[in-house]
Amino acid sequence: MDLILFGPPGAGKGTQAKVLQDERGLIQLSTGDMLRAAVAQGTELGKKSKAIMDRGDLVPDDLVIGIIAERLEKPDCAKGVIFDGFPRTVAQAKALDVVLAGQGRKIDAVIELRVDDEAMVGRMESRVRENPAAARADDTPETLRKRLAVYRQNTEPLLDFYRGQGKLVTVDGMAPIAEVSAAIKRIIGGLGKPS
Ligand code: ADP
Repeated sequence: MDLILFGPPGAGKGTQAKVLQDERGLIQLSTGDMLRAAVAQGTELGKKSKAIMDRGDLVPDDLVIGIIAERLEKPDCAKGVIFDGFPRTVAQAKALDVVLAGQGRKIDAVIELRVDDEAMVGRMESRVRENPAAARADDTPETLRKRLAVYRQNTEPLLDFYRGQGKLVTVDGMAPIAEVSAAIKRIIGGLGKPS
């Protein structure tokens, strides 16, 4: 089973992806984590990505699609993955469909964590104030705003793309973590059953 967790920065995609990884043995594929690892290791990809990420812009589609396509070939991905922070553009979504089709697989569902995104920025800002040591290089108030603007402009249009494919399901991302997990569990439980 291959799933996409969808939502603005701070919606809780990473948290829910980890729950699914632990409970269902799916592999969490976070392009943000992969890119940060590339930056930390000083790879070519990391060098190309660092400044872009620090200002809250999107890393070019071909680079991101490349790391995902390569990762999907690893045997551990065979039983299913949860995409977290990917795709972020319609071009990435189309490329993902092609890569998956090449492996005889497809996205089963796109789970939108619907949140009040302005409230999210406020929550992330206070988290950074309370624990600055844990903050990322792109967790400044300006960059958070920028990431949200980029989300609205480039990523939100994907909702229509996946709605058109009949794959979009929405859960209330403002609910407590355990309730969000339960809602996702119900969705997954219903996949493949006639509606
Ligand atoms: P968040 O969801 O909190 O914004 P991520 O960890 O998903 O953070 O991403 C951090 C940064 O990494 C993004 O602002 C962007 O620069 C880059 N990035 C991550 N995923 C992608 C992607 N799919 N396409 C382009 N850039 C990406």
